[in-house]
Amino acid sequence: MYDVAIVGCGVIGAAAAFELSKYELNIVILEKENDVSMGETRANSAIIHAGYDPRPGTLMAKLNVQGNAMTEALCRQLSVPFSRIGSLVLAFSQDEMKTVWDLYTRGLANGVPDMEILWGEKVRELEPEINGQVVGALYAPSAGIIYPWEYALAFAETAVRNGAELRLNTSVTGIEKRDGFYRIHTNNGDYDARYVVNAAGVHSGEIHSMVAEPTFTIRPNRGEYYLMDKCEVTRANHVLFQCPNEDGKGVLVAPTVGGNLIVGPNAESVSDPERVNNTAAGMAFVRTKALKSVPTLNFRNSIRNFAGIRANTEHDEFQIGVAAENFIDLAGIKSPGLTSAPAIALYAVELLRGCGMRAVPRENPVTTRERLCVRMLSDPQKNEAIRRNPLYGRVICRCETVTEGEIVDAIHSPIPPCSLDGVKRRVGTGMGRCQGGFCGPRVLEILARELRTDRLNILQDGAGSHILMSRTKREVSE
Ligand SMILES: Cc1cc2nc3c(=O)[nH]c(=O)nc-3n(C[C@H](O)[C@H](O)[C@H](O)COP(=O)(O)OP(=O)(O)OC[C@H]3O[C@@H](n4cnc5c(N)ncnc54)[C@H](O)[C@@H]3O)c2cc1C
Repeated sequence: MYDVAIVGCGVIGAAAAFELSKYELNIVILEKENDVSMGETRANSAIIHAGYDPRPGTLMAKLNVQGNAMTEALCRQLSVPFSRIGSLVLAFSQDEMKTVWDLYTRGLANGVPDMEILWGEKVRELEPEINGQVVGALYAPSAGIIYPWEYALAFAETAVRNGAELRLNTSVTGIEKRDGFYRIHTNNGDYDARYVVNAAGVHSGEIHSMVAEPTFTIRPNRGEYYLMDKCEVTRANHVLFQCPNEDGKGVLVAPTVGGNLIVGPNAESVSDPERVNNTAAGMAFVRTKALKSVPTLNFRNSIRNFAGIRANTEHDEFQIGVAAENFIDLAGIKSPGLTSAPAIALYAVELLRGCGMRAVPRENPVTTRERLCVRMLSDPQKNEAIRRNPLYGRVICRCETVTEGEIVDAIHSPIPPCSLDGVKRRVGTGMGRCQGGFCGPRVLEILARELRTDRLNILQDGAGSHILMSRTKREVSE
C-alpha cells in the first residue's frame, strides 16, 4: 500500500513528487511513457513567465508569480540551467500600447516585480534587430529561460533518491475506490494508494472522470516551433513577445539556455491530444509572425521543428483541487504551468494535508542534485576531471561538446534513459547543428554497452521507435 500515487511524470507530477518526498511517505509515480517529461513538458516555449498575463485574483496568477520567484534557487540547488534574461511585450501601434498598459496593470495586481513601460527608442537600444515600427514595450526583468525537461527530470530524480518509486511504461487504465484507499489499474498490474494525485496533462480529464463527474474538458491545442542554430541567437537578447490575443501569448522569439533561438508557437485546436506533428500552414504562420518582431531572422538556419500540445480547458484557470475523497487534480495545466510547477507542488501538499494526509518531515531529505557538465569547467577543472575518469576527455557530441563520461553518468543516474532522446534530454547530445547525425550511432553503442543490451533494443525516443531493425552481417565475436 502506497501513501500517495501520482499519475503522470511531467513537470507537475515530478514537482509534486519532489515536495512530497521530503516527508515520510511511500510514493509511487505512474507514467505511461518510457521516460519522464514526454508530454507537454518536453515541447513548449521554455519560458519562466513573469506573471502579468493571468487574470488577477486567479490561482493561476498567484502560482505563476510564486513559481517564478522559486525557480532561481531551485535551479541552483538542482543543477538545472536557468537564466533570468527578462521579457519584452512589443507593441506595434498605439492601440497595442493600450494592451501593454493593461498587462502592466495586471502585473502590478499580481505582484510582478520591477516591470517598466519602455518607449520605442529604448526598446531598440535593448534589441537592435527588432522591427523599427515598435512603438513601445512592457519590460519584465523577472522572466527567464530554462530547460523544461531537465527541470522535471531533476525533480523526479531527487524524489527517487528520497525513496519515491517511478514506474515507467505504466499506463493508468482505471481507478476504483475501495475502503480507505484507491486501487489503480494499469497495464502493469494494480497499485493501491491512500491518496491519488492526477497530474496526467492532456489526459488529466480522463483520469478525473475515473473517480468523479466531469467538471472540465481538455481541449488539446497544438503549438509549433522552429529551433534555430546558434548563429541566430544574437537576434534577441530577451524573450520577445507580441501582444497576446484570445489564442494565447502569441509568437515569441527568444534565446534558449543552450544558446539557440526558439521561434513560435502558433495555436491550433486538435482532436488528438498526442498529435505533435508539424504542419506547413502552422510553420508558415510562425514565420510570418516572427518576422514581424525580428525582420532579420534567417529561417535557413533552422535546425529543428517541433510541436507541443497545450492541456487547455473551457476554463481560463488551472483545474487544481480536491476532485473526490483523498483524490486531487493538478489538471488542465496549460501555460504558465512550467513556471508555476514548484508552487503547484507546494499547493498540492497543502491540499493533501487538508484531505487528512499525515506529513511527517523526513530526516535529512535529499534536496540537491549535481550534474557534471565538462564544457562548463575551467581548463584545470577539466584536467582534474579527466585524471579521475578519462571518459571525461572523450568528446562524443562535437556540436555541444558532450563527453562519454557525462553520457555514462546519465545512463547510471537514478532515472536511466533507454533512448537516444533520453540521453539528449539529460546531457544535450544531438542538440546541436547536426541534430545527432554524427554522435547518434556512438550514443547508441554506449547505451547498449552500459545497459548490457543488444543494440537492436535501443530506441530513438518513445516505445517502438527502434533505430536498428535487424542484422545485415554476422558479427564475429572475439
Ligand atoms: C506550445 C506550448 C508552450 C508552452 N509554453 C510555456 C512556457 O513558456 N512557460 C510555461 O510556464 N508553460 C508553458 N507551457 C505549459 C507547460 O508546458 C505545461 O503547463 C506543463 O508542461 C504541464 O506539465 P504536466 O506535468 O501537467 O503535463 P505533461 O508534461 O504532459 O505530463 C503529464 C504526464 O502524464 C502522463 N500520462 C498521461 N496519461 C497517463 C496515464 N493514463 N497513465 C500514466 N501516465 C499518464 C503523460 O505521459 C505525461 O508524461 C506551454 C505549453 C505548450 C504546449
